Amino acid sequence: MFAGHYAAALAAKAIEPRAPTWTLVAGAQLVDIGWAALVIAGIERGSVDPTLPGSALVLEHMPYTHSLPAAIVWSIGAAIVARYALRLVWPAAIAIAAVVFSHWLLDLLVHRPDLELYPQGPKVGFALWDLAVVEQAVEIGLIAIAATFWSAQRTRSNQQAWPAAAFVGLLVAVQIIAMLMPAEAADTIAETGPMALAVYIVIAIVAVFLDRQNRAQAQTP
Ligand SMILES: [Zn+2]
Repeated sequence: MFAGHYAAALAAKAIEPRAPTWTLVAGAQLVDIGWAALVIAGIERGSVDPTLPGSALVLEHMPYTHSLPAAIVWSIGAAIVARYALRLVWPAAIAIAAVVFSHWLLDLLVHRPDLELYPQGPKVGFALWDLAVVEQAVEIGLIAIAATFWSAQRTRSNQQAWPAAAFVGLLVAVQIIAMLMPAEAADTIAETGPMALAVYIVIAIVAVFLDRQNRAQAQTP
């Protein structure tokens, strides 16, 4: 799941425009940003099996980012940071927390059973990755629906449509490149961690400019 996670961010932006776009975009992948950092640190573990459909990742150990209690803690933490460090209003902070938690729910849909329900508890996942084409269609469908609502909200706020279209185009392009790039046997989880972290951070930085663009446009008579 890649673009599908960002669908939650765009839908939340349509519902609660007071949350800066970058906070929702970073929030949608917050637990994966944590996962990538902990994989680099050697605290969470996984491996790559290029024979697997959908995603080559075998996610053996990720209790601090992808267990249900961890997802709840990350969501509450995001709300507290949004409210007190970023000084956003509570509805915006709660929207960010909901987007952070949506990551776990969407991962539940696609992951093979690797998401712990509680520490040392059963691992769950509905394994949509095993139906790779259906999984891709669900992700692109989610981002298309969310982008439609987001564009409508931007239109109501007198904001330009093209930065939104370009951003969604970027997400879909990254999704397609990742899909077409065959997992090599030589790929390791040690390479996947930094690559994932870089992609998530670059996309969050790009999202900062979406709001900048908005303001410039809003000031134009
Ligand atoms: Zn994830």
